[in-house]
Amino acid sequence: MTNTDELESVRIFDTTLRDGEQSPRTSFDYNDKRAIAELLDEMGTHVIEAGFPVNSDPEFEAVSDIAAATDATTCGLARVVETDVQAAIDAGVDMVHVFVSTSDVQLQDSMHASREEAVTRAVKSVEQVRDAGLEVMFSPMDATRTNESFLVEVVEAVSEAGVDWINIPDTCGVATPSRFAKLIRLVGEHTDARIDVHTHDDFGLATANAMSGFEAGAHQAQVSVNGIGERAGNAAFEEVVMSAESLYDVDTDIDTTRITELAKLVEEKSTIPIPVNKAVVGDNAFAHESGIHAAGVMENTDTFEPGVMTPEMVGASREFVLGKHTGTHSVRKRLEELNYEPSDSEVRAVTKLVKEFGAEKEQVTDSVIARFAEEVGVSEVDSEEVRV
Ligand code: MN
Repeated sequence: MTNTDELESVRIFDTTLRDGEQSPRTSFDYNDKRAIAELLDEMGTHVIEAGFPVNSDPEFEAVSDIAAATDATTCGLARVVETDVQAAIDAGVDMVHVFVSTSDVQLQDSMHASREEAVTRAVKSVEQVRDAGLEVMFSPMDATRTNESFLVEVVEAVSEAGVDWINIPDTCGVATPSRFAKLIRLVGEHTDARIDVHTHDDFGLATANAMSGFEAGAHQAQVSVNGIGERAGNAAFEEVVMSAESLYDVDTDIDTTRITELAKLVEEKSTIPIPVNKAVVGDNAFAHESGIHAAGVMENTDTFEPGVMTPEMVGASREFVLGKHTGTHSVRKRLEELNYEPSDSEVRAVTKLVKEFGAEKEQVTDSVIARFAEEVGVSEVDSEEVRV
């Protein structure tokens, strides 16, 4: 497949420290937040949502110190409540993200407010941020389950009040790529503000929906590292950035070579393990076991990898795993790396042992390979020869 050039630019709004931290059973302490923000900033992330300043004193302090220490636009979250907005302003952020529920189910059974009240408070909060001279983003929470004409009414009201960004959140992850695109285009027809999207992964569509948002004219997507966040999580930083770079051929200005380092840092601080088969950053993302795949990749990595995305691009490395599905190419390679000089028949004999061992769900480590090499009688490279 050839790259498309249908996107002009892709901006990244990282919410690892806010929605990501709202992952069940997860919290970041002050130092965790500072470390994650520092790396996001060094990598060139456009906006860092550092937290919810009104939440607590330590949260306020973390947001405030991140705002002072980073070059990125720092954002603080606020409900459409005067004290929330004031706390965000006082924390010294560059952007305040105000949100209010707009779906009937949330207005009735979560906010306990009327549609009219939601609009009035949204406009008031946007004005409060504007008066403080800061950038303002507004989110109609649960936009994808909000009555469309009411959504348009809210969008027009906050646009009139001078909002800079309208974020369209798929709060409960129910969007599909084509429906979401339609919604983004509709919003675009009713505002001059820039559009941002926030997608959730309840059906595994978060990244697809974010990319669909960009295709429909959104300027920015909210992501979290490793896709952590409420319930099944958010669109993953690494997936959205690499899709933009590798599949859409857009330069995000983000240093992608530190993506693996970032993923591991967030894995450690959040204590949420990265699934081995996770796109881009999972341990298996660039690993090959089956004989046909491994042999192909050894000859030309494009045979069984995306080609447009390499492990080097994300700071990872390629791995040839030995096990039940292994072929002779991987075994010869590993034996040679371990300083053996196997004949073809010896490679076949070791491969047979590896496959049997792997079939028992055992891990074929280097010491196992060495044991098999001894068993088969493979000779080692002469130590004299190595010195020369
Ligand atoms: Mn969310």
